[in-house]
This record gives sequence, structure tokens and C-alpha cells, in this order.
Amino acid sequence: MHESRKTADAVVVGSGPGGATVARELARAGKAVVLLEKGRDHRLIGNHFSALRYADKSGLSFTEEGLNLVRAHITGGSTIVYCGSAASPPAWLRSKYGIDLDSYAARVAEELHVAPLPDEVLGEASLRMLHAANSLGHKFAKMPKFIDPSICKRRCGGTCMLGCPHGAKWSARAFIDDMKVAGGELVTRADVQHVMIEDGVAAGVSAITPQGMLEVRAPTVVISAGGLGTPCILQRSGLHEAGVGMFLDPLVFVTGVARGQGTALGPPMAIGTYELIDEGVLLSDLIDPWGMWLVMTAMSRPGRLFDWVRYRSQLGLMVKIGDDRCGHISMDGRVSKPLTTSDRQKLSRGASIARRILIEAGCDPRSIVVGPVRGAHPGATARIGEVVDQNLQTRIPGLYVSDASVLPEALDRPLVLTIISLARRLSDHLLGRTAN
Ligand SMILES: Cc1cc2nc3c(=O)[nH]c(=O)nc-3n(C[C@H](O)[C@H](O)[C@H](O)COP(=O)(O)OP(=O)(O)OC[C@H]3O[C@@H](n4cnc5c(N)ncnc54)[C@H](O)[C@@H]3O)c2cc1C
Repeated sequence: MHESRKTADAVVVGSGPGGATVARELARAGKAVVLLEKGRDHRLIGNHFSALRYADKSGLSFTEEGLNLVRAHITGGSTIVYCGSAASPPAWLRSKYGIDLDSYAARVAEELHVAPLPDEVLGEASLRMLHAANSLGHKFAKMPKFIDPSICKRRCGGTCMLGCPHGAKWSARAFIDDMKVAGGELVTRADVQHVMIEDGVAAGVSAITPQGMLEVRAPTVVISAGGLGTPCILQRSGLHEAGVGMFLDPLVFVTGVARGQGTALGPPMAIGTYELIDEGVLLSDLIDPWGMWLVMTAMSRPGRLFDWVRYRSQLGLMVKIGDDRCGHISMDGRVSKPLTTSDRQKLSRGASIARRILIEAGCDPRSIVVGPVRGAHPGATARIGEVVDQNLQTRIPGLYVSDASVLPEALDRPLVLTIISLARRLSDHLLGRTAN
């Protein structure tokens, strides 16, 4: 088999928000950076057929307990398919773990113009649910978004989660482009197998590519393969403490049929409640893209497939919970994540609240269904305090982690702003800069 070798100051594995941020910051500081990504640089995004190619197992990946797992293998990672919602890092990261991200998050939010969407961009359904929830005494608000309202085209039909073909939704690809301009190198279709460790310190990584084996030698190795990918690489490199326990932020969609425009005709997760966040529950307006709606309904409630003809007038609320840490990931990527009694209680409480809001917003109560449980935010698989230290370094000098896997607990809220902030903090550390 053909073998090739590269050398760099730093090699970063995975081009989601955790990896792309570090790669950009190091390249901009003049470091020679190689960014390795398992997926391709698909440019045709935003429709069901292309999404089948970059969604992990075409969207049909499951835990051993049957929870559907959603993530993307593509340049930009899961920010290609995310909803573009932003939330500040939780206060407990500072009080409990001594990690202050406030100034980082404020600068990222300013740079990426994070803000709630104006009424004229919000869908009619979002506004209806906002008023319905507030009239029931829940404190719903417009959510801050990584979406440029001047580009966002309404009526995309729920396809935002397949990738934004208009470029309205910020994705980590923007940072990869910046990295390339600064001289960094992106290698796609490079499936990293393990970290090379020589004399007890990180020396680079080894990857399988379509051309054969690729070895990238670098004194700084940053693993950013996501909450599910990173622990596999660490375990294959001898760090068996990774992948033991995780959060998945389990979620369910509660949907019902009403008159007028449905949730799919506006940007997803445009409104939501933070009032229950301290109890580990988040509610926000969301419905599956139509193709995924069909697959999920066929698998969980085939008797309701006929509702698909009224897809465009369905209202949807996502109930997402901050779950207990448990389960494990095997070296070969198998995931076990049982739901605890407390997780099930939170989901069921959130679903009851969602049901009342949907009825208040005009849904026929007989049409309301609760979909299957899924997980889209894996993390805590290489936790701060257990697998990495406060500077995100593992017990192997030179080997760092920068992605959702370092988060020590479920955030109960959108993660991307926190992941970028942590990655900026790591970049400062690697460059010997003090935080400002
Ligand atoms: C449908 C959906 C909607 C979401 N909506 C939101 C939202 O609105 N707001 C929010 O904040 N969060 C949202 N999230 C979650 C958010 O997208 C993730 O938390 C975030 O992308 C995680 O970033 P990461 O850097 O940890 O990993 P990822 O984004 O998963 O990136 C990891 C990258 O590493 C690559 N990789 C994996 N293994 C290897 C390997 N062996 N070698 C090389 N490369 C590898 C992957 O292909 C991937 O590109 C959503 C997620 C999903 C799935």
C-alpha cells in the first residue's frame, strides 16, 4: 500500500467547530497546520439526496438501545446540518471547573453576528408558538442564531438541517477557508486511526486515505473528531479512559397539525424557552425535514404516515434534555447509552408542556404525536478533569482534544458557541498567549 508523509507544527483531526477553530487560529499565527477530515468537501448541500452522502450512515445510525444518532461526516462537521442556534456557555463551567469562557464567547458572538432573527424572517408558525407559549405563562423568547437574516430565505421547507445552500447559516467551513488563506492545508477523506506516541509524547497521527496510508508528523496533535469520533481515536492510541460515560442530549419531536403555515416553512429553532434550562429541559420549534419525517414515522408510527400530506401545516416542538452521564463507546464506534429514569421523566415532562403549547397554538389534539428519542449532541467522552486537564491536554504531552468530548457534563443548551470558545482558549494556550 502506498504510504505518504507530511510534517507540520500542528496536526488537527476533524473539521467541525472544535477542530476548524484551532486550525484557523494556529495558521493565522503563522504555524504550519495540517487539518485532516474523514468526510469529503461536498459542495452540493441542502437536499435529501446529497445529505444521504454526508449524514453518518445516511441518518440511520443507532445506539445499542435503539436511539437514533445524528452527525455529519463532511468538511465543517455537524455545523453543516445544525440548526444554527447559539447559547452562552453555562455559568457552571466557571464556578465548578474554573473555565471562564465569557470573553471568548462575547468575541465569537460579535465576529459571527450572533443575534435573534427579525420577525420578518421568523416563520409564521414560530410567532404563533411564541405567543401560545407565553400566553400559557412559559417564558419563550427568540433564540440567538448563527444565521444572517439578510441571506436567509424563508420557506426552505425544513431543509435547513440538510445544509444551507444559500450560505445564510454560519458553518465551520468559514474557518477552514480562513485557515487555507493563512497557509494551512486541508486533507479530506483522511480517516485517522491513531496517534503516534514516541518516547511518551505525541509525535503525529496515522490516517487511511483513498491513496493509502498517510502519516502526519507534528509535535502538537489536536483531536477534534467529535463526541463519538474522538474517544475511538484516543482508545486506539492507548488512552482507554476515553469513551466511558457520555451525554447525548436526548430529544423528541412533538408534532401536531394546525391550520396555516407549519414549522417547516421557517428557520428551525428560532424561538425557545430557557426558563426550564436549570431543570435540564429545552423546548424549541423544530420539525424533521420531510424525508426524515417519513423515515422516522414509518419506523415508529406507521399508522400516522398519512399525516405526511399535511406536513407543511404541522407545528413541531423539540424537547431536548440534559441527560445523566452514562454508557460507553467502543473502539470500533459502537455506542451504548441507556436512558435513566430521570432522563425519561424530563422528556415526558417536556413533552406534556409541548403538547399544551401546540394545542394553544391551534393544533388538533388528536393529531399530536411524540416521536422517537434521538441524540444529536454527543459529548463528555474525553472529559475535562478526567481525560484532559484544564488546558485540554491528555496525559500524553502534546496530545490535546478540542471538541464536544471535553465538556464535562451535558450543557442543556446548544453547544457550538461553547465549543468555539473553548477552542479559542486552547489556541491561546498553544500559542503562549494569555486570555484577553
Ligand atoms: C441535526 C443537528 C442540529 C444541531 N443543531 C445545533 C444548534 O442549533 N446549535 C448548536 O450549538 N449545536 C447544534 N447541534 C450540535 C452541534 O452541531 C455539535 O455539537 C457540534 O458540531 C460538535 O462539534 P465538534 O467539533 O465536537 O464535532 P463535529 O461537528 O461532529 O465534527 C467532527 C468532525 O470530525 C470528523 N471525524 C470524525 N472521525 C474522524 C476521523 N477518524 N478522522 C478524521 N476526521 C474525523 C467528522 O467527519 C466531523 O467532520 C446540532 C447537531 C445536529 C446533528
